[in-house]
Amino acid sequence: MRSLAERISEIVGEKYVSDESHVRWAYAKDVGPWRERMPDVVVRPGDPYEVSAIVDLANRLRVPIWPRGGGATPVGAGMPLKPYGILLDMTRMNQIEVDEGDMVAVAEAGATFASLIHQLWKKGLDTFRGPGSGLAASVGGAASMSSNWHASLKYGGTGDVVRGVEVVLPTGEIIRTASAYKWPHKFYARYHGTPDLTGLFIGDHGTLGVKTKVSFGLWEKPEFADGVGWGVDNVVNMQTIFQKISRKRLATDMNFHDKLIMQFLAYLRNEVGYDGVGPEMRRWLKAIYDDLEESGNVERFEKNGDMIAFAVVEEHSRAVLDEKVKMIEKIVRESGGWIMGRRYAMDYHDNQLHGFYQPFMNVDPGLGTSFIGGGGLIRPSQFAKSREILYSYLEENKEDLQKHDISGTFFGYVLNPSAIAIYPGVLGDQYHMPSRERVVYHSKRIRDEYMRSDCGWQPYFAGEWGTEGYMKTLYAPYYYLLKNIKKLLDPNNILNPGMLGL
Ligand SMILES: Cc1cc2nc3c(=O)[nH]c(=O)nc-3n(C[C@H](O)[C@H](O)[C@H](O)COP(=O)(O)OP(=O)(O)OC[C@H]3O[C@@H](n4cnc5c(N)ncnc54)[C@H](O)[C@@H]3O)c2cc1C
Repeated sequence: MRSLAERISEIVGEKYVSDESHVRWAYAKDVGPWRERMPDVVVRPGDPYEVSAIVDLANRLRVPIWPRGGGATPVGAGMPLKPYGILLDMTRMNQIEVDEGDMVAVAEAGATFASLIHQLWKKGLDTFRGPGSGLAASVGGAASMSSNWHASLKYGGTGDVVRGVEVVLPTGEIIRTASAYKWPHKFYARYHGTPDLTGLFIGDHGTLGVKTKVSFGLWEKPEFADGVGWGVDNVVNMQTIFQKISRKRLATDMNFHDKLIMQFLAYLRNEVGYDGVGPEMRRWLKAIYDDLEESGNVERFEKNGDMIAFAVVEEHSRAVLDEKVKMIEKIVRESGGWIMGRRYAMDYHDNQLHGFYQPFMNVDPGLGTSFIGGGGLIRPSQFAKSREILYSYLEENKEDLQKHDISGTFFGYVLNPSAIAIYPGVLGDQYHMPSRERVVYHSKRIRDEYMRSDCGWQPYFAGEWGTEGYMKTLYAPYYYLLKNIKKLLDPNNILNPGMLGL
């Protein structure tokens, strides 16, 4: 009898399929702390027809398919939920077409945000710039996770910017949504005379189809950029500042780091020193401390500071830019904040596509090997209150956290005037198993504390971490609607079975 790999190689060719254990092992994990789960086979399809044929085979054999883009989720999503099945690596499908006439870019699902944005910037164009993991994250993964962040405050996130998707349904048919539903299948507009089904596939975590193309609306990249960094001694003031700035739509990005991170930065700078940390952390640390020194706020930052934040402003006109920066500074001053300077903001701006997040994740020698559980969206009116939930948790569990050398983090960004993304997580040592298991345990309990609260929290992502959380709070009629849709589209439940409780 032919093996699964042999049968798939008849579709994609021998070169693009493997059941060797070292290959399967490489796909057994995403960037989070979750236990590895090896698929039976890894396949790298080259076009939607190959994907369709693989899906057809999986239906006949009743074998699950786990689609994967960059595998850059920290929540156990870009990896098999069960230790078997077909891992569908989409990264070979990475071509990008830019249509400057109609201002749409159509990217194959495996293209990374870094490649999309670099191509666009070379032409003076722009779109939603992707998640913090954009060097690795694929556009198909981002659409499946409904990702947000870089420039979302100005332009919106994936869901707002996407003009339609091409999807291989779990039964093998290939469809395009939005204006591309009809011949000649051009992506340019959402919403028309029939229901726009694009949204069905945004945030579906790959449960309703395999995305093979994602199209993005475009506009011209603003020529001018500037930024403002500030601190507050009380998080309540930060909430007011965020609300005032976002309601006036003054900024392209607005991000924050709270005192758990500030204390750590002070420790790095004062105890470890710039030479003791990796280059990304050094650059970021230096930008912040140069701002603090110049503005005379070092002591305030280290002793009384509760939270720091920055806004980046981008405009086509220097005069409009300068005016907006002035307006932000005025709001900050009038709402109890102290201005730090512009380097903290511009370090983000200049490195958003390649280096900004490194200091927080596994790759900085100065931090050791650490990781984060996951984040979620809350209502802006609950921002200050939402941090208390993490702080109470850290206090109540102080002994266990100290014992396993686990620390808390709280940072995030303002998504729009109605939602703030917060990451109340824990950091530990990925390669020390007891610490790693405790991080999983604590990140799930923190998630549940937030789910129980009334700050509007919803986990950003499902995967292993978020699915349990969703299941605890999904409104039953809504869940059954989702389940019925899933049954209709995927009668044999072969695509990401178990994800989102489906
Ligand atoms: C340092 C760092 C920073 C991050 N910052 C952010 C952030 O700012 N904002 C944010 O939203 N997220 C963030 N993330 C989380 C994650 O990286 C993003 O959500 C990213 O968009 C996931 O894309 P991916 O290609 O890596 O997806 P994967 O991890 O490969 O997959 C994610 C999910 O999508 C499904 N999937 C992938 N490709 C397809 C496809 N073609 N068709 C159907 N289903 C598919 C998978 O089955 C899985 O369920 C961050 C992660 C890291 C490590």
